[in-house]
Amino acid sequence: MDDVPCMTWGEQTPFDVIQKANDKILRALTDSKIPVAIFINEQGLAEDAKRIALLKQWLTHPLITAGNHTFSHLNAAEIPQTLFEKEVLDGETLTRKILSGTGKPLKYFRFPFNASGKDSVSIVALQSFLNKHGYISTPFTIESSDYMFQSLYQQAIDKKDSIEARRVTAAYIAHTLELFDHFERLSLQRYGRVIPQIYLCHDNKLNADCLGELAAQIKSKGYSFTNLDTALQDKAYQQTDYYYGPYGFSWFFRWEKDKQKRKLLLQQQPEPSPQDYAAYRKLLK
Ligand SMILES: [Zn+2]
Repeated sequence: MDDVPCMTWGEQTPFDVIQKANDKILRALTDSKIPVAIFINEQGLAEDAKRIALLKQWLTHPLITAGNHTFSHLNAAEIPQTLFEKEVLDGETLTRKILSGTGKPLKYFRFPFNASGKDSVSIVALQSFLNKHGYISTPFTIESSDYMFQSLYQQAIDKKDSIEARRVTAAYIAHTLELFDHFERLSLQRYGRVIPQIYLCHDNKLNADCLGELAAQIKSKGYSFTNLDTALQDKAYQQTDYYYGPYGFSWFFRWEKDKQKRKLLLQQQPEPSPQDYAAYRKLLK
């Protein structure tokens, strides 16, 4: 789960709204016994004792593995390397302090937007910087544009349109399950078995309200939940990442060496409906 604990909320959002949503996510994870790796942005936390306490609430939870997601969520493909390196180091200050009392390590890192650099030179250089600082760059296999559904969901809530809000949550859950089916089939095709999937989503209101239901549906497909350490021990995750560009797509595509085959695989990935995409693009303007 990325952008923990406050990054996805606008600056104007009252803290109790953020606290309530985070509480709800943690409750859902606890109830469904789902181990989660969280990728933290520390921007705006240090000046605020309540926000630090919220981060502590996450990090001290027994099901939570810690991860750095940089200080302020800048894109590694768009800024100078030295600035990105500073973002990595500035992003671990509070996390390390809190973790020192828990015995938990800080070894995972996830690039904002999953953009690991702008070209092969910067990607290799940043990878070696991360290695030097003891970080493992964290892959994912499934993500379902939850940020897009979140924007539509928030708009429906702001308009007090409960019918649209319910439609959006149903569309989000259906699309996520469709992607689980898709990547399960792809995994069977490519490896003859279903590899442990890593689902990437965000700390936002949509997941606060949907995660319990989503977890139940995934479970009913026959999945069980494990932590990031265990998932990454699978040999699928020892494969070479052949992609040296700025886009943030699934590791299934990065493990494909042939560019044409990768392009084909990318085209086959199910997308949210064009109507939802159009509505989202309109919101961004
Ligand atoms: Zn992020």
